[in-house]
Amino acid sequence: MSMNAIQFQRGLSLPQFQALYGTEQQCERALVAARWPHGWRCTHCGCKRFFLTRNGPGRQLWECFVCGYQSSSIVGTVMEHTHVPLRLWFLAMYLLTQHKNAISALALKRQLGVSYKTAWLLKHKLMQTMSQRDARYLLHGRVEIDDAYLGGERAGHINGGRKPVNKTAFVAAVQTRTDGRPLYMRLTPVADFTNEAMRQWAGHHLASDCHVVSDGTPAFAQVRQVGATHERHVTGGGRQGVQTAQLHWVNTLLGNLKTSMAGTYHSFDHAKYAARYLAEFCYRFNRRFDLPAMLPGLLRALVSTKPLPLKVLQV
Ligand SMILES: [Zn+2]
Repeated sequence: MSMNAIQFQRGLSLPQFQALYGTEQQCERALVAARWPHGWRCTHCGCKRFFLTRNGPGRQLWECFVCGYQSSSIVGTVMEHTHVPLRLWFLAMYLLTQHKNAISALALKRQLGVSYKTAWLLKHKLMQTMSQRDARYLLHGRVEIDDAYLGGERAGHINGGRKPVNKTAFVAAVQTRTDGRPLYMRLTPVADFTNEAMRQWAGHHLASDCHVVSDGTPAFAQVRQVGATHERHVTGGGRQGVQTAQLHWVNTLLGNLKTSMAGTYHSFDHAKYAARYLAEFCYRFNRRFDLPAMLPGLLRALVSTKPLPLKVLQV
């Protein structure tokens, strides 16, 4: 039996995780190292000299030697104002990154021993951070794209490319390597597959060196607007579309997405939160070559992302 090198790679085992991040102090040290890899610096005046104090049993406080500004390691990050112990944040990061499939807020609630509201907030803050992290990168080279929907069976290209009722439309894009294997994936909700929506999508996600491969959906020709070349395969949709060799990876990964979503979530409000759930799936896929690096990577993303208040999370 041949072994898939990615599936059989060593991840971060639970005993390893506990040895590294089992206590509040270990998590705080890891957080500080991720936030200030070159040493603490005052966010107000830039000074590097400080007093260290501790707020009773609470977190360590840095007080600037020059301006007196006082802050903890979580101020100005996604974790600002959290009442959840850091070790539970780390455990949530572990559970969200080390498994092939996602973990629902309900399962997270049980694993962490917190309320559903706390688990929901943790999960959405982590998913939003993942979404903002991946949005910084453009896709390059050969990219397969397809139109897809959340909230039911894949609808193919019925209604002339128009979105079916009660479904959330999204663009699925997969960058492939020169050897034909998939490298990165981007799944982005769009209002509809109109020329204007696709022009905007291409502007946000494609570099000008892209060679885009798609089916016959007319709006996909808009990728030329950013300088990309476009290879079109008119398939007529349905099973024939799924079998098109040139669109093999985008169709395969859409199939994996569907299986993963069905196995993890009973239901979720895809009209509101599709972008986050899709980004979470992509985040894991895009970093699948190095599982142990995923948790420190997500930690760096958390400390360099601005706070996400409730009004931002509950769009
Ligand atoms: Zn200062």
